Amino acid sequence: MAYGKVITGHVDPIEKKPVTHYRPGTSIFSIATTGCNWLCKYCQNYDISQRRKIEGTDMTPEEVVSMAKSSGSQGIAYTYNQPSIFIEFARDCGVIARRNGLFNIFVSNGYDTPETVHMMKEFLDCITVDFKGNAEPQFTRRYVGVPDPQPIFDTLKEIRDKTTIHVEITDLIVPQVGDDLEHAVKLCKFIYDEFGPDMPIHFLRFHPDYKMMEFESTPIKTLEKHHAVAKKEGLKYAYLGNVPGHHLEHTYCPECKKIVVKRYGFDIQGWYLDDNNNCKFCGNNIPITGKLTENYKQNRFQFVF
Ligand code: SF4
Repeated sequence: MAYGKVITGHVDPIEKKPVTHYRPGTSIFSIATTGCNWLCKYCQNYDISQRRKIEGTDMTPEEVVSMAKSSGSQGIAYTYNQPSIFIEFARDCGVIARRNGLFNIFVSNGYDTPETVHMMKEFLDCITVDFKGNAEPQFTRRYVGVPDPQPIFDTLKEIRDKTTIHVEITDLIVPQVGDDLEHAVKLCKFIYDEFGPDMPIHFLRFHPDYKMMEFESTPIKTLEKHHAVAKKEGLKYAYLGNVPGHHLEHTYCPECKKIVVKRYGFDIQGWYLDDNNNCKFCGNNIPITGKLTENYKQNRFQFVF
């Protein structure tokens, strides 16, 4: 129903998705439709995700790709609402995008089916799967509106087993109701056991929005404790998000512990990797796909429509 009804178009840095280990420094043309398969009470995009009337500018896949190219972007993100609700349109855009040298990213809640993952194979290069509240079932029931987070875990395994899509994990930490460290341990163990130590994980700071205005922003200490859990469980590339200026935004070399990618918010301020993405200080390889290009700051924030 939402096919070709594009409600918004922006150019964003890939780091905003957040994605840090795939094509860093690139600009991404980001589109959405209205509607979502979740009902998150904290949704920052509730104006489009919770609309029950399908609205938007009529666009063909060719027009989306042409707009992405003319904005100077290197890829297209299907984001702001759950992209699998408009996957037929995303697929048609994505196939043409690839033919034109652009890559495709989903910013997803991971609440998908094997059939959806099968379609992703045709066009998707990268996905960031966003758990909320450490995927604790009571949180998911009360604040997301779905009975069980299990499909997210199943989707991740399906992507791992059936595709070559680059995956990153996000977890929105909501104070008091979605910040339980025992559940963080469970989530990190799952990631380590199923995907290994190199899977990037981003713990995002919650900000009050929509139906959760009475909550405070997540304390920095709570985020830091989650980061410590991830490291203790063996995950080498854990990050904090929505905390510009925090030292845990950077990528650290797991061997020599030096900063190899220095960030401030979505900005990259230092790049200490050689041409093969080896640490310049000790030679350890850092699993990042792509390199920072010169002039990467061009076109990074644009409101297109
Ligand atoms: S899944 Fe994302 S877009 Fe959909 S309601 Fe939740 S936060 Fe909003």
